[in-house]
Amino acid sequence: MDIFLKEIPIERNNILVIADEKSESMIVDTLLSPDYTISFAKLDMVALEQAIKEKPDLILLYIVTSDMNGFELLSTMKNISEISHIPVIIVSSFNDIDNEEKGFLLGAVDYIKIPFNTRVLKARIKTHIQIVQQFRIVEQRGIMDGLTNIPNRRYFDDRIVIEWRRALREHQPLSSLMIDIDKFKSYNDTYGHPHGDALLKAVAHVLATTVMRPTDMCARIGGEEFAVILPDTNLDGAVHVAEKLRAAVEALRVPTADGKIITTVTISLGVASLIPQENDSIEEFITRADVHLYNAKKSGRNRVSY
Ligand code: GH3
Ligand code: MG
Ligand code: MG
Repeated sequence: MDIFLKEIPIERNNILVIADEKSESMIVDTLLSPDYTISFAKLDMVALEQAIKEKPDLILLYIVTSDMNGFELLSTMKNISEISHIPVIIVSSFNDIDNEEKGFLLGAVDYIKIPFNTRVLKARIKTHIQIVQQFRIVEQRGIMDGLTNIPNRRYFDDRIVIEWRRALREHQPLSSLMIDIDKFKSYNDTYGHPHGDALLKAVAHVLATTVMRPTDMCARIGGEEFAVILPDTNLDGAVHVAEKLRAAVEALRVPTADGKIITTVTISLGVASLIPQENDSIEEFITRADVHLYNAKKSGRNRVSY
């Protein structure tokens, strides 16, 4: 039994090394094999097929001679949807800024010049592998909204319970904002759905970057509906944040895809705030913010109600 347990492999990350010179492959093999599963490909278009098949966690692309265009390979790679997300680190004998910039512009995540320090190379690879792992965790937990890249309803539902319990324990105020874009249907009808999506992204970005404290959180909880959780914030503070968000969205200018028309949007916000007590309910707290949102709509939109 023990023997079998020992045989269970620890999850290892895979790195695909694309290089023409055997000597280079051998250097990285010796260097990285203790920590990663390494595979190799020659610097030609077959490397792309191998990348598609293996789906490595990271690609190390050697660019040392000018005869085969490694940059071209990188550019092609970034246009193949199955592999375009895989981080590529260029290892290059070209020391000039132009080639370095070209590498980054084509989508490489790092550019390491030969000769490199082996410890630094290992550290940089580890960093990019960690980013891949973090991203995977976020993806697996399904807490990001795919369109706007801010947390989704599921995350909001979890987080409000956590903050509620904390506020209850510590006798601290907790506030929440319910937000809805005004007359959003008309934007889709007038400028088309893609522009509606662009507006949603822009609004999400403004909301998420305008809430200030690290513990504040903004989520997309529905089509054109957002919610903000403000821990340790009383009604005055929450109304202040709400007004700031309202003004920030009002100041947004989002051009249509052809750049011909500049559109503006507004939002309505409902605020709820309390110091939770044992018998209070989260649902009622959220409903209160929703009722205020409804009031904001009824009394003319582009306003905060509390
Ligand atoms: P109100 O001021 O009363 O909120 O008016 P409204 O038009 O925003 O409200 P309503 O709820 O009637 O319409 C919401 C619209 O939001 C419906 C749909 O056209 C749009 N919408 C919802 N989700 C998305 C999305 O993911 N992308 C785009 N482009 N539009 C969306
Ligand atoms: Mg709505
Ligand atoms: Mg709306």
